[in-house]
This record gives sequence, C-alpha cells and structure tokens, in this order.
Amino acid sequence: MFDLNSLLRDNIKRLVPYSTARDEFKGEASIFLDANENSYGSPLPVKYNRYPDPMQWKVKYKLAEIKGVPPQNIFLGNGSDEVIDVLYRSFCRPGIDNVVLFPPTYGMYEVSANINDVIVRKVSLTPDTFQLDMPALQEAVDENTKLIFICSPNNPTGNSIDRSDIEMILNNFDGIVVIDEAYINYARQKTFISELTEYPNLVVMQTLSKAWGLAALRVGMAFAGEEIINVLNKVKAPYNINQSAQDLVLEALNNIVQVNEWIKDAVVERDKLAASLEALPQVEYVYPSDANFLLAKTTDAKGIYNSLVEQGIIVRDRSKVELCGGCLRITVGTPEENVTLVKAINDFK
Ligand SMILES: *Cc1c(COP(=O)(O)O)cnc(C)c1O
Repeated sequence: MFDLNSLLRDNIKRLVPYSTARDEFKGEASIFLDANENSYGSPLPVKYNRYPDPMQWKVKYKLAEIKGVPPQNIFLGNGSDEVIDVLYRSFCRPGIDNVVLFPPTYGMYEVSANINDVIVRKVSLTPDTFQLDMPALQEAVDENTKLIFICSPNNPTGNSIDRSDIEMILNNFDGIVVIDEAYINYARQKTFISELTEYPNLVVMQTLSKAWGLAALRVGMAFAGEEIINVLNKVKAPYNINQSAQDLVLEALNNIVQVNEWIKDAVVERDKLAASLEALPQVEYVYPSDANFLLAKTTDAKGIYNSLVEQGIIVRDRSKVELCGGCLRITVGTPEENVTLVKAINDFK
C-alpha cells in the first residue's frame, strides 16, 4: 500500500515552510510595504523590483490547459535538476535510504543522490535493447528504497522503456516512481501524465529545455498527485522561478503551433540523419531513437569526436559509458547542420 506519510522524512513531515510576505497577505492592495523591496523601481525598462509569485500560478494555469492536468498537480523547478534535488530532500534520509537507477541514463540522478548522501543502487539496462532488467530490479529494491528513476525516452540511448514494465513497477512498488519524460514530445509512446489519477506513487517529470526551446530559462516540471506536489512546494526555495522566466514562459506557451512544427521537423530530420549515418563506413550501428538525438556506435569514437571538434562540430562522446562502447550521442541539428556533420564524419579516415 502506498502511504505518503510513511515515505516522508520526519523533518519534512514536521517542516513549517517559509512564509513569504505575499503568502501572508492575500487580496487587492496598491501600496506594498511588506517585503522590503525597492519601492522606487528597478534600473531597467521592465520593472523587476517586486518578488515573483512563489507558486507561479499564471504559468501553471497555462500549462494546465496544454497538458490537461489541474494546476494544483503541477510543480515547477529551476530546471528538472531542482525537481530531482527536491525529491531526494523530501523522501530520502541521508546515509540510510536508497534510490534505484537504470544506467546508462541521465547523469544528474546520481550526482544529485551523491550530493544528498542518498545510496545509489544501479540496475543496468539490458545490453543493446536498453530495457529494464525486471528480475534484477526486484533484487535491488528493499524497504529503504524510496525512489526509482525511469528515464523514457532514455538519455543517452534514445529509446522508450516498455510501458508494461513501467506499469508493473507502478503497481508493485510502494515508493515513488519518477518517470523522466524530457524527450516525450519526440516519442511514439504516449505520456504517463494521463495515468496520474491511476497511480498515487507516480511523478512525471518534463522540461521546457528540449522541445520547447527554453533551456536558458531553466524551467522543469513535475506532475503528480496533490499530496506529493504539496510536499515539493514546501521543500523548494520560496522564489525558485524568477519573474523574467515566468513572464517569458507565459509568452512562449502561446506559441505551441511553432513548437509542434519544430517537433515534426526534428522527427523527420532524425530519421533522415539516422539513415545517412548508418550508410557511413565509420558508423557500425545507429540505435532506434524516440528522442531528438541519436546514439551511434562508431569504429573510433574518440578519433571521430576529436576530428569533429577540430571542425567546430561538438557531439557527445559517450564511449566510456557502460553499454555504450564506441558510441557518440548526436543531437539532431538543422538540415544544413546535419549535412555538414555527415560529411565531416565521412571525411574521417
Ligand atoms: C535534458 C534533460 C533534462 C532537462 O533538464 P533541465 O534541468 O530541465 O534543463 C531532464 N532529464 C533528462 C533525461 C534530460 O536529458
């Protein structure tokens, strides 16, 4: 049985969150002398002298429309990185509790666990197909396992994780299952957001950094039941999303037509690029991708990487990562960039 209270750290259960000046006063007013802001203004064309909305309601209402999730089921973080950190700080007792990760996967789950002194239990994905090893997972989980991070589509392998395996975990694990859907917009598989009402232990992470093209603004999202969202809101920094980010995100969310066009273009380009790369003698295999990048097994990852760098083209060398020997991770570029890249790899002797 899932019981949020039994998962929470005692200090978080007891925590009285910081109450901001704007939390304590609710209503209409014209003179704000409660937060020690500069009453005269800010030395910029746009005024930033007032603290931003700690709960980012305007952004959440807009996201709610787009995602089909009530605003009180949305948490916003300073990038997904803050979401990951707040999850650890809320649920994992340092030095006691553990998290299960499925390498090769996104590096921040482990870094953030290490920062928070959370024990990391690794269950490698299956070679080549990069799926969950369910028997090994069962071995790894114990009563101190509070979180399981599933990245789907997975970074750096690009594939989606089998839905039935994820559902099996959601149905049988009493801790929190975090599904990181940073690349969901490029995937054939559908989001788990629609399953939130089904699973009280589910947290779905998404981000504005990839398909939405707003990496510089640092806005990550978590979708979950209200109980979990309330915990995350209690633990986060009070003003974690700054005013300029909130304003720009609100404006950007009106341009969904443009974003959807880019997604379509990137998917077409991804499949074209995969075919072009596979035709090269320097490339042994391109793994199937549900993301906006490709994992390519090459004859000489280091050599190709260095030769690309010399030509001003930067890809990610993943050849030292487990199960990724010889592999480069290549983000899908514009059509012109992709042509240049393929030519540059083909020139490598
Ligand atoms: C890029 C990426 C993110 C996004 O992180 P932000 O902090 O929101 O920019 C999250 N998860 C994965 C797996 C990623 O590859």
